[in-house]
Amino acid sequence: MTTKSSVLGYPRIGANREWKKALEEFWSGKLEEGTFESRLRELRLQHLRKQQAKGIDIIPVNDFSYYDQVLDTATMFGLVPKRFAYDGGPVSLPLYYGIARGTKEATASEMTKWFNTNYHYIVPELDGGEPALTENKPLQAYREAKEALGIEGRPVLIGPLTFVKLSKGYKADEAGAWLDRLLPLYVQILVELEAEGVKWVQIDEPILVNGLSADELGRLHAVYEKLVAAAPSLNILLQTYFESAEHYGELVKLPVQGIGLDFVHGLEGSMKALREHGFPQDKVLGAGVIDGRGIWKASLRERLTLLNELQTYVSADRLIIQSSCSLLHVPVTASVEDRLLPELRDALAFADEKLDELVLLAKAVNEGEAAVKEQLDQAEQALQALGQSRDRNRGDVQKAVAAILAQEPARQQPFAKRYEAQQEKWRLPLLPTTTIGSFPQSAEVRKARQLWRKGEWSEEQYASFIREQIDTWVGLQEDIGIDVLVHGEFERTDMVEFFGEKLEGFAFTSFGWVQSYGSRCVKPPIIYGDVAFDQPMTTVETAYAQSKTNRPVKGMLTGPVTIMNWSFVRDDIPREQIAYQLAYALRQEVEALEKAGIGLIQVDEPAVREGLPLKKEDQAAYLDWAVKAFRLTTCTVQDTTQIHTHMCYCEFHDMIDSIEAMDADVISIETSRSHGELIHSFEENTYRLGIGLGVYDIHSPRVPQVEEMTAMIDRALRVLDPKLFWINPDCGLKTRGTEETVAALRNMVEATKLARSKH
Ligand code: GLN
Ligand code: ZN
Repeated sequence: MTTKSSVLGYPRIGANREWKKALEEFWSGKLEEGTFESRLRELRLQHLRKQQAKGIDIIPVNDFSYYDQVLDTATMFGLVPKRFAYDGGPVSLPLYYGIARGTKEATASEMTKWFNTNYHYIVPELDGGEPALTENKPLQAYREAKEALGIEGRPVLIGPLTFVKLSKGYKADEAGAWLDRLLPLYVQILVELEAEGVKWVQIDEPILVNGLSADELGRLHAVYEKLVAAAPSLNILLQTYFESAEHYGELVKLPVQGIGLDFVHGLEGSMKALREHGFPQDKVLGAGVIDGRGIWKASLRERLTLLNELQTYVSADRLIIQSSCSLLHVPVTASVEDRLLPELRDALAFADEKLDELVLLAKAVNEGEAAVKEQLDQAEQALQALGQSRDRNRGDVQKAVAAILAQEPARQQPFAKRYEAQQEKWRLPLLPTTTIGSFPQSAEVRKARQLWRKGEWSEEQYASFIREQIDTWVGLQEDIGIDVLVHGEFERTDMVEFFGEKLEGFAFTSFGWVQSYGSRCVKPPIIYGDVAFDQPMTTVETAYAQSKTNRPVKGMLTGPVTIMNWSFVRDDIPREQIAYQLAYALRQEVEALEKAGIGLIQVDEPAVREGLPLKKEDQAAYLDWAVKAFRLTTCTVQDTTQIHTHMCYCEFHDMIDSIEAMDADVISIETSRSHGELIHSFEENTYRLGIGLGVYDIHSPRVPQVEEMTAMIDRALRVLDPKLFWINPDCGLKTRGTEETVAALRNMVEATKLARSKH
């Protein structure tokens, strides 16, 4: 018996986003269901074949999905929200996509972030009838891989505790009852797998990294005792990821045959647990030693040292070398990225390269390091070359960042003083109106950008087109009667990419897509070097807009933490340092805007909350440096310069102090999705700076009525000071149509006038 290699899941989108294309063609009616199914099957088999050819010993099955693995689990159990007409049996594809995307009759289910990744899952709603097993998906996937390719796959399923915890639509004290309802269905799945001769099943319980209550812990024991007893000859690998597992001492007491731990993101915690409790002699350890979320090659020698240490707790034949989580979170292959700097490309490992790393590590453990010496050397050399590259060793940047960090970043005056100075200078009316930044990116805008990118339009042609858009929208905003204008962000596709392309230290892949939600894929920039400001990025358009109006125009930047959280970042320096480098670069942009005569500057930070570590004990430190990065970006301006920030919906209550500590003169936040919860948090906490709670939801094309916004404003002003209150939509308007946007903003100004007359 030897050490084996395995992965926890493989990307489903395909090297050329074949998956996305198939889904979208099917949705638009261009693909028949049968053709669609066979295209997806082909892709699924291709992914299995690739893992087989690379030599992965234990290949996951049922990691593929037609949309999302959590939705798959819900529909497999017949858990369809009540508002969809469903009366049992296998869930049809139209219904499946209806739940995910909405139908004419029923709104889509909510989606939310999968732990601290940028993947979004569909939140199951446990409000319908009794669950029932509509099909055994893991079994089907197992059979398919075996029949088509002779692969003895390891079916993956989301564990019952995680599934119930991530679902909604039930009261807190009903969780146990839901587990009881689902347990027989899990049992049935496992019994059928066992009967089929399946040897191992991977049950994902990432919820274990968050920590369980005493009740939940009790249920964990009960559930896994039942599952193991029901299918005694089937081996269960209880898999955790994204951090070290809590309650390790309890986990190892479970009767499961294997436990999977994350030795990348939870390295310290996982090692500490092993050192304290050891590892049971009768279990298999799934050791997640290759980063399933990062894009860099691993230092294989360092990983081997770790694997050697692990072998003091578990013998080689009970060790499986795995990715730390599913490879869903990284692009498919770096081998096609020939437009990148060689030293960067050679240091990348996307999903396929990670398969090679896993196979290599297993070989090294089984046959000794000498057997793979050449490959180990190559990996070290590649990492070293990037480490020594000029872009990673910018003395100028490092010195400047160290210098600005020598002092606690703070504005010259406290908010109260700045407020007075700004009132004096800007003379804005009570309850000033503004928008969040972007205006509709019409087909015309997208077309123009394409023509320019392809070189069919000259720089000047494109610039003059952008100026025309600005003209139109400055005119519209004045006509509607908005107090603080914006230029509209017509020159930007994406709020991170736009800045990444203009700053130094960033690279952009050609095919580095990852699934974000449904068929939507994103191609995050790579922050591979020291970040540096080159030249002003936003002053031309902003100053142009300002030249067209007497009202103040607000400049628009993306903040350091958001840029970082929406990029792949280097892992040779702490994230904190990357945030500070970004802050220093963006500070120079803030200063350039101020110099260009722009006196209100918004630094968007919608992704601060997303970066919050999973472990409670790590959260305060993160918030500290995230706040510091924002302050570094904004602290050098004059008292009269008004700093705004914007956050999309965020669970404000547990972060209110940090948000206040950012010390932005005005914050705008998305409110409508929280259904009043947000306002509620102000009843308990005070917030003493300027604030605009979005008065209407921009996610829908529906034009909100004046009365609705009035109700929202009145409600907010019961708890917030009118002198500090701003009126704005929930978020940027770039996905909306022009007509509906103008109509909605007119109603918003109308509602503001009514509110002013009352306060
Ligand atoms: N300024 C950006 C916009 O209006 C903000 C987008 C966001 O919050 N995600 O588009
Ligand atoms: Zn937003």
